Amino acid sequence: MKHEEWRETVLQERNRRIFAEELDGFVPGRVFDAHVHVFDPGVVPAGESFDCAGHPLASYTLDDLAADLPAVYPGRETGALCFGLPDPRYDFQRNNQYLGDHCDRRRFFALRLADPDEADREAVRRDLASGRFAGIKPYPDYVRTKPLAEVEVDDMLPAWLMEIVNDLGLLVTLHLPRPGRLADPLNRAQVIRLCRRYPRAKIVLAHIGRAYYLRAVVGNLDELKELPNLWYDLAMLNHREVIEYLFRTVPAEKVLYGTDIPLALAPGKSVEINHQYSYVTPVPWKLAICDATHRVRFTSFLYEELRAIRDAAAGAKLSTAAVEAVFHGNVVRLLGGAC
Ligand SMILES: [Zn+2]
Repeated sequence: MKHEEWRETVLQERNRRIFAEELDGFVPGRVFDAHVHVFDPGVVPAGESFDCAGHPLASYTLDDLAADLPAVYPGRETGALCFGLPDPRYDFQRNNQYLGDHCDRRRFFALRLADPDEADREAVRRDLASGRFAGIKPYPDYVRTKPLAEVEVDDMLPAWLMEIVNDLGLLVTLHLPRPGRLADPLNRAQVIRLCRRYPRAKIVLAHIGRAYYLRAVVGNLDELKELPNLWYDLAMLNHREVIEYLFRTVPAEKVLYGTDIPLALAPGKSVEINHQYSYVTPVPWKLAICDATHRVRFTSFLYEELRAIRDAAAGAKLSTAAVEAVFHGNVVRLLGGAC
């Protein structure tokens, strides 16, 4: 697929202007993305494709990522924490192997997709102890014992797996399950128990616990904010007030910049409507309202996220040092300070 067909970057004049006028003065010199999906050819079943906000992708490799990052953040030093596509129909072992073999642990780091039913638990321990992976990426869809909407955090992260993670002091990027997500009290209770029971594990709530609209986050961080081993990534958050609420509620060192590339490179925006959220995109996508009549010209979800973080940081009066830490230092510390 040709570059211009779906990626919104400064290779297009309209995005070059957005970056120069709105983002260049805000984005720090070092940008580390804590939430990127990478999958080599062969992971997605033959004849199928990953639906990247309405744009079919057969693969998104580390070479693609290395080519895109300078076109998204011109002049910045960049790095990323990468994991595969957590779809149980995809080739999970192949995806893990590719990332474990090719992430250099200087610029690119890998999380291992984690299936709670993996048969060879010793192989999982060996894989994680090898140093090739900074942690694990579980996903509700890997739990096959109950309907998806009923899957709990504890089902995704069984004790045998968490014991390995805790022994090795690894990361867990956690996609909160159940329809209520962060607003679900059972989810929060299980996250608290997980953090306390496994104090050496570093738990990252992906997408601020998937709280994409204000009501989903307000009041729901109070019992979590003191947990020393819990962090929050900002992937796909386009909502200034949600991010500002996070900045005002938890210490800035608990917030990690992340995007959900490749999804975040596509044109679109996440919007709040009547205490719900939807994506809005220029092409049809199953998770979006489609602007079929081309009412507006879009930029990427990623640039919308940067605008929201910029305004939230200003609103919450974050220092320049705190912003720099959100974009780089906080996650680098979690990864052992290697880059
Ligand atoms: Zn993701």
